[in-house]
Amino acid sequence: MKLDKYSLGIGDRFGLQGVPQLRAFQMAAGKGLQISPVWNKSNREHSIIGTVPHDTRREADGAVGELGWRGAYLVDADHIGAGTVDPFIDSSDFFTIDVAEFIGIPASPEAVRSFLGAMAPFTGAIRVPGLDEPLGVDETLLRAVAGKYLNAVAEAGRVYRRILSARRGKEFVTEVSLDESDMPQSPGELFFILGAIGAEGIPIRTIAPKFTGSFLKGVDYVGDVGTFAREFEQDLAVVAFAAGSFHLPDDLKLSVHTGSDKFSLYPLMHRAIRRFDAGLHLKTAGTTWLEEVIGLAEAGGEGLRTAKEIYALSFGRFDELCGPYTQVINIDRSKLPPPAEVATWPGEVFAGTLRHDPLHKGFNPDLRQLVHVGYKVAAEMGPRFTGLLRRYAAPVGKNVTDNIYRRHIAPLFLGADDPD
Ligand SMILES: [Zn+2]
Repeated sequence: MKLDKYSLGIGDRFGLQGVPQLRAFQMAAGKGLQISPVWNKSNREHSIIGTVPHDTRREADGAVGELGWRGAYLVDADHIGAGTVDPFIDSSDFFTIDVAEFIGIPASPEAVRSFLGAMAPFTGAIRVPGLDEPLGVDETLLRAVAGKYLNAVAEAGRVYRRILSARRGKEFVTEVSLDESDMPQSPGELFFILGAIGAEGIPIRTIAPKFTGSFLKGVDYVGDVGTFAREFEQDLAVVAFAAGSFHLPDDLKLSVHTGSDKFSLYPLMHRAIRRFDAGLHLKTAGTTWLEEVIGLAEAGGEGLRTAKEIYALSFGRFDELCGPYTQVINIDRSKLPPPAEVATWPGEVFAGTLRHDPLHKGFNPDLRQLVHVGYKVAAEMGPRFTGLLRRYAAPVGKNVTDNIYRRHIAPLFLGADDPD
């Protein structure tokens, strides 16, 4: 199953922006850079919006057909587990197996013994190309990894084999995600987690560890950028070394679940993947939905009125809408403008407040995060909202394409702040 060295996960809550999203990848291809688009949507998103996995497949296939895209593209069953994977089997060909909730539960003594036996050749000072210091490995580290992660890897194996048998020979890409766990994994832990995954027989292509710092939805990284840079480079080195050491696929690469918009990290990630000649999968959240609201605001008229209505309703339902996302948002309620004030704004003020341009002095990350989780309000509007997206397809699509290309692809993969 082809997955380019570089791939970008794109979310699309309402499934209407396939074409404008794909245009951004065409623009990159025009600059000589092939990036696989991966449409990702989690079970949670599907259930809040009332869509099914097949809708995402139809969107992706439709966009690919319409634009004549010849490259690889995939549909990701995002953050699935044994209880949620089945409806995704036919329509997805990329499976992100989330085993975070199995971390820390002890594995069986036999499993621990067999893991310690398999990893015994890797004890001592392990020289990993690209790491300044050797990895110091002793039985204490191996037992710690076994105690924390072996059970999670065994669960990933069960889910993988379930997908394998249900797919009946149809190929797919497997990712294992640990990013929704409490503690970041050290490079040494990551190396032996990959060892356990290899021993479990899961041919993973991408692994999503939890990194240091906060990856909130739709806003920039919160944490020490220098610490992240070191950790990211160490992980790149460890992933490349693990692929060769544990009979994992050659193109195994890191997956970073960003929550979108980690602008302060992209330049250093760009330098690191170039320096290590490493692949990367970068997953964004459903921030295409925010570009839809921005496009409607800019369109004026009914579009602007509806954008303001979405804000007002979200403001009034703050607790309910933020509830499922408390771990990944951080909103200062005192910085949210009252809906009565927003009602007086012209379209460009609304758009400038919501759009993630850190240099724009009107940008308000608190308002942005609230609207990000407010998609339920738009989903409830049903055809009234989706009809507006169709009516204002041009201003909406322009914002969708521009966001993916100029704010994500260009700084991360092309390494240019100004791609023009
Ligand atoms: Zn994730």
